[in-house]
Amino acid sequence: MLQKAFISIGSNKGGRIDNCRTAVWLVGSGRKTFVVKKSSFYETEPWGNPDQPPFINAVIEVRTELGPRELLGLLKSIERKMGRTPSVPLGPRVIDLDIIFYGQAVINERGLKVPHPQAGERAFVLLPLNEIAPEFVHPSLKKKVFELAASLKDTGGIKRLV
Ligand code: ADP
Ligand code: MG
Repeated sequence: MLQKAFISIGSNKGGRIDNCRTAVWLVGSGRKTFVVKKSSFYETEPWGNPDQPPFINAVIEVRTELGPRELLGLLKSIERKMGRTPSVPLGPRVIDLDIIFYGQAVINERGLKVPHPQAGERAFVLLPLNEIAPEFVHPSLKKKVFELAASLKDTGGIKRLV
């Protein structure tokens, strides 16, 4: 069965926009996952560890035949293929691919938490998500994306690129 899922994409090392584009292409290049929507790119001040270049962020919507673990495996294999090496937590990375939502699934396993634990509060996830899926209901907070986006307190560090 095809499931609807949302994936966040981030890069703050090397050709940041090209890295994000390559990742989108790779996500859709297998036979079991299709990219159906893409947000704009956003530039975001680094979060957690301010001593590094700004991030480029985007969110995509996919349809996938993969289960959530398999989808995570695909994203990790793309991160590896694109040369991401283990780095300091919250430090610079060529590419970061996270599962934000997998349908209405709520998963709380070791190594896989869905919805992504910070999905409801991070501007660099919610603003791009709001562009492509404002009506989507956060499965555990039970609020729509546009409501979560509207209640963000601080969106100062993020700008949409045109
Ligand atoms: P982060 O994305 O938090 O900056 P990493 O990309 O290094 O850091 O991810 C660390 C681990 O988080 C991954 O190895 C993965 O198993 C786990 N993880 C848990 N939930 C998710 C999710 N929803 N999407 C992606 N990774 C997740
Ligand atoms: Mg990650």
